[in-house]
Amino acid sequence: MSTFPEVDQAVAAATAAFAAYRQTAPRVRAAFLDSIADRIEAIPDLPETVHRETHLPVARAENERGRTCNQLRMFARLLEDPAWNRPRTAPGEPDLRLRHVPLGPVAVFGASNFPLAFSAAGGDTAAALAAGAPVVVKAHEAHPDTSRLVGDAIRDALKEHGLPEGVFTLLFGPGRTLGQALVAHPGIKAVAFTGSRAAGLAIAATAAARPVPIPVYAEMSSVNPVFLLPGALADDAEGLARGFAASAVLGSGQFCTNPGLVFARTGNGLDAFLKTAASSFAETPAQPMLTDGIRAAYETGRERLAALPGTELVAQGTGEPAAALYRTDAATFLAEPALREEIFGATSLVVAVDSEVETHRIIDVLEGQLTATIHTGAGDAEEAARLVPRLELLAGRIVHGGWPTGVAVGEATVHGGPFPATTDARTTSVGTLAIDRFLRPVAYQDFPAALLPEELR
Ligand code: NAP
Repeated sequence: MSTFPEVDQAVAAATAAFAAYRQTAPRVRAAFLDSIADRIEAIPDLPETVHRETHLPVARAENERGRTCNQLRMFARLLEDPAWNRPRTAPGEPDLRLRHVPLGPVAVFGASNFPLAFSAAGGDTAAALAAGAPVVVKAHEAHPDTSRLVGDAIRDALKEHGLPEGVFTLLFGPGRTLGQALVAHPGIKAVAFTGSRAAGLAIAATAAARPVPIPVYAEMSSVNPVFLLPGALADDAEGLARGFAASAVLGSGQFCTNPGLVFARTGNGLDAFLKTAASSFAETPAQPMLTDGIRAAYETGRERLAALPGTELVAQGTGEPAAALYRTDAATFLAEPALREEIFGATSLVVAVDSEVETHRIIDVLEGQLTATIHTGAGDAEEAARLVPRLELLAGRIVHGGWPTGVAVGEATVHGGPFPATTDARTTSVGTLAIDRFLRPVAYQDFPAALLPEELR
């Protein structure tokens, strides 16, 4: 099938396992997910392994382990309520009944920046396994030992519950060759990916060019604009600046929800905002980044931004790779598309905006985003009410009065958004709604009760 025997084997095993796995009772899959979470919690030295491979602090890795286990258990609890499948019945002539069935084996590409929560047993894997879809993970080369430890936990959980081995396989190898072969394999029915725009688009192109095209849920690039309205700046410019700087430099800025662009109304408030933000950035020490490649891309992005006419360095942190804050004006921003591109890391650009009309012009040129944030204060209500409908078209999550980093995982979470934030704005990679990525509806017309799936009788 492909030039990679391990891809062929993994997909063949997943295809064989699908027949039995899709028919398992939801409570069996719930117990399996709970068991994976228990086993990941019990892996000795997992946070230390994450730290050694990624430079992420041990405390952050421990938190991420907690989030990963919570996600798995969240899907387990979802499956305990028959409503998870959203069955519908429309009696009459004809008698129609609908339920959702899993798509089939799914390929998941682990992310570099969330070695647990978006990797081997991350949200995509949990959602697919909950749906009844076997998973083949292409592990990220930045954290192979972490992936192996988590993969072993999943395999042990499969054994414990008497489920076929092919329900989960972990593959290692280059994305451009092995990863592409996985996406092209006819046995794979959907792909979930988190990473760069270039890789996400390459995967989407391969999936679309297959004799039987398949959906690709790729989360790629977002600059997460923040809009500071005049009243908010007048109320507390310094507090806003501190909150913004903390969000912008968190984890060396290696978050897909990092606030890369701030649009702030010109005036005294903006001056105070820039002054406080500058001192926060200047006090930020450099931290090692996830990979040499990510660091190189960050430095190239910063150099590109610094070289653009009309941008000015406001402050930078100590050491290298340095956190950095730049400023420009709305006319420059509108004239230069390169200023809208993501720089993955702790660099942000503040854009001084003169009016509401200018803000709307800016929104018209922005690409799709995972998040958009607004801060309002006294006198901003009407302007905010005109802004929100525009932000609904721009982003998957609109934050009021806070900061975009930090994603709450739950029933109403949307971690998605219009292109290039993702390749499919209709779905989310985080929260219970993510299960929909791996399901499709089937209607049963005029079926005798005995032939109907149990939940539709
Ligand atoms: P990446 O280069 O996109 O790699 C992610 C995964 O995709 C890796 O497993 C990689 O395999 C694979 N891959 C790369 N090119 C491919 C292709 N043409 N076809 C199939 N698979 C391919 O991302 P990264 O290494 O994590 O970071 C690079 C940049 O991605 C960052 O600087 C940042 O801009 C962006 N990023 C975005 C997010 C986000 O949340 N949106 C998260 C992390 C990174 P190999 O390792 O073998 O190349």
